[in-house]
Amino acid sequence: MIYQLSVGRLECVVVSDGQPGPPFEPALGDFFTPDAGVPADVLQDACRGRSTLTCGYNCLFVSTPDGMAVIDTGLGPDFLGYGEYIEPLVGQLDGGMTAAGLSRANLAAVVFTHLHQDHSRGAIWSGDLTFPAASAYAHTSEVAFWSGPVDLPSAQPHVEAARETIRLFGERLHPFEYDAEILPGVRATAAPGHTPGHTAILLQSQGERLLCVGDTFYDPLQLTNPNWATPWDLDAPASIASRRLLLERAVDEQILVHAYHLPFPGLGRVQRKGSTFTWHPLPT
Ligand SMILES: [Zn+2]
Repeated sequence: MIYQLSVGRLECVVVSDGQPGPPFEPALGDFFTPDAGVPADVLQDACRGRSTLTCGYNCLFVSTPDGMAVIDTGLGPDFLGYGEYIEPLVGQLDGGMTAAGLSRANLAAVVFTHLHQDHSRGAIWSGDLTFPAASAYAHTSEVAFWSGPVDLPSAQPHVEAARETIRLFGERLHPFEYDAEILPGVRATAAPGHTPGHTAILLQSQGERLLCVGDTFYDPLQLTNPNWATPWDLDAPASIASRRLLLERAVDEQILVHAYHLPFPGLGRVQRKGSTFTWHPLPT
């Protein structure tokens, strides 16, 4: 699946790495758990009969003056971490790139919102770099976190891919700070909490903007309930604060949003509703 759009002079294309549908959609109850602060009865009331969420993997390619970049790279082929039934439903980035006329060899940059495996493994799954000419970019705190001892249980599934990403890119991995312009028109925006260096990416050209929020939310339920954390938010209070700030900004500045895990292509607008928000997918 591919979806093309432009942000000023930046030509963009969302390429899906996969989007398992029913019966392989994950349960809402796996994301919003009592341990993460969402009691089962609160979840049941909020989700109105829906029991699963549609989890996309929406990788965003951006044609910058410095070459083609991709923001996050999906799970990659041969991934068995979510079960063998889902394995053929993900790892589809390569086919989508071909459909979009994109070449792995020509990719100049990989920008990571964070180094969880569903964002980084697509770049390293084979044991070699998927994009052999690309430089990589990740936040300084993200690189430091995964390079050190990781003892949080919910981080464990991600350690291998994060470390392999850091190792394989080596000196071609460039750590950045928040507010840095990573590439022309591609700016790092603070979004810590999901992981220590979790980053939103703001694309900007000729007065048009697109805010890529990474894993700031997994489902529109987190806009109507912005205080809902998930087991994968390593610092839940910080992730909630980041979510609120980014959603406020998207509303106040009327910025189009790209959400990595929302149904393909993950593009939409945010509106305020009292002290919460609502999600309005871009008509496609
Ligand atoms: Zn993710």
